[in-house]
Amino acid sequence: MSLYLNENPHAMQLVFATNNKNKIKEVQSLVPQHIKLLSLADINCTEEIPETTGTIEGNAQQKANYIKDHYGYDCFADDTGLEADALNGEPGVDTAHYAGPQRNADDNMNKLLLALEDKVSRKAQFKTVIALHLNGQLKTFSGICKGEITTEKKGNDGFGYDPIFKADGYEQTFAEISLEEKNKIGHRGKAVTKLIAYLNSV
Ligand code: IMP
Repeated sequence: MSLYLNENPHAMQLVFATNNKNKIKEVQSLVPQHIKLLSLADINCTEEIPETTGTIEGNAQQKANYIKDHYGYDCFADDTGLEADALNGEPGVDTAHYAGPQRNADDNMNKLLLALEDKVSRKAQFKTVIALHLNGQLKTFSGICKGEITTEKKGNDGFGYDPIFKADGYEQTFAEISLEEKNKIGHRGKAVTKLIAYLNSV
C-alpha cells in the first residue's frame, strides 16, 4: 500500500525506517516536495527490526522489506558500516556493536584502535547502503568514503567513530570538520544524493 494523500494526487508518503529525527529532517529537506517522510514512530513500529543477513546491503534490504511486508508502506532503510582493510573489512556489519551490545562509541573506538595497533595498513572506508522499496521494486544506492583510522581520537563533533576517521585528502578527523563538509564527502551524503536523484526521476 503506497499511501497517496487525498488533497494532492501526486502526494506520497514514504517511510524512512529510522527514529533518528536528525536523519529524517535532513533527508526531508532534500526529497521532492510531494514526498512526505514518515518515521518508524509515525507508523507505530516500535519493535526491533531484524538485521540478521550478515551484510550491510542485506540488512538495509531486510529492513525495507520488513516495513513493506508488515506495515504495507513503501519505504527506504539505511545501513552503515566501517570496513578496515587490515581486518578483512571488520567491523563491517558489526560496526554499531563492535565492542558489545552496549553500542558505546568510546568502547567501539578503543577496540578498533587496539585491533589495528600492530597493523601496517590503517586504511578503512565507511559504506552506507540505502535500500528503497517503491512501487513494487527494490533498489539500492551506496556511498563510500575512503580514508584511514588515526592512532588517537581527535575532535569533539560528530558521532560514532568520527574522532578516529580521517577521509583521504584531509588532515582532520570527521570529528574536526563541519557537518556541511562531512555531508559533502561522506558516505551517507553520497548515498542520499543518489536516492534523491532517483526519487526526482520517478
Ligand atoms: P547506522 O547504520 O547509521 O545506524 O550506523 C551503524 C554504526 O556505524 C553507528 O552506530 C556508528 O557507530 C557507525 N557510524 C555510522 N555512520 C557514521 C558516521 O558518519 N561517523 C561515525 N560513525 C558512524
